[in-house]
Amino acid sequence: MNFYPSCMKSLPLLWSRPETPHDAPQDNREDERHDFDDSVLQKIVGLSRARAWEIVGGLSRPSKMPCYSWGIPAQSCITGSKLAQVEGSVCQRCYALKGFYRYPKVQQAYQRRLDRSGDPRWVEAMVKLVYWQTAETGTPYFRWFDSGDLQSVEMLRNICAVAVGTPEIRHWLPTREYRMVEAFLENESLPANLVVRISAALIDGQPAHSLGLPTSTVHRAIAPPESTVCVARESEPVNCGTCRSCWDDAVRKVSYPLH
Ligand code: SF4
Repeated sequence: MNFYPSCMKSLPLLWSRPETPHDAPQDNREDERHDFDDSVLQKIVGLSRARAWEIVGGLSRPSKMPCYSWGIPAQSCITGSKLAQVEGSVCQRCYALKGFYRYPKVQQAYQRRLDRSGDPRWVEAMVKLVYWQTAETGTPYFRWFDSGDLQSVEMLRNICAVAVGTPEIRHWLPTREYRMVEAFLENESLPANLVVRISAALIDGQPAHSLGLPTSTVHRAIAPPESTVCVARESEPVNCGTCRSCWDDAVRKVSYPLH
């Protein structure tokens, strides 16, 4: 059984034509407001890109990825912050706890996205931004959690609602919060266009519980059998190129070389 917000049922109609930021100012034409009551106007116009950006707190643009991403502070990872204390864990070497990610402005941006994730218009705003970023990048993919991880079953449910609202876009969500995913799957199902990849906790390890979902691992020298090895580091600068394995449900195991 699915429990997506009832407002999502009409969203694919609302977003049938992706808008560019250049379209956004037209959303505020006051003279047309006299012709419709608010609910009709909302269905026709929806949120402007600028308003959606404000509600969500913005997106990030990882240079490696073909698309934008939504993330939150790595320090907020529930399982990851415990794993960060464990020798040999992937989280101990987390890229999102180092370098660029430590700049105050970057940290503030990720914190802002976490703080605003409970906004009642968050799903609608994210649908808008996912379509906007697709028009901007020309690629129908979206990455969840370039930093951070799921905070609750409710957060996963809202992300599913965003995927349902953007059926032409493929979403990839890596997570170590398998218990939250498991709790979600007890009564609900994942949208077909959302690949939730259960990530291993330890370098050269396997996820303890994959829940039958695709997985990802990190290896030092030899990738686990039957894994697709990430090729992003074979390019300079590091990038996915034409590879979209992480978004592909048929690619059951992806392994990243340790760097
Ligand atoms: S496996 Fe492919 S899609 Fe995934 S991060 Fe590596 S290059 Fe990108």
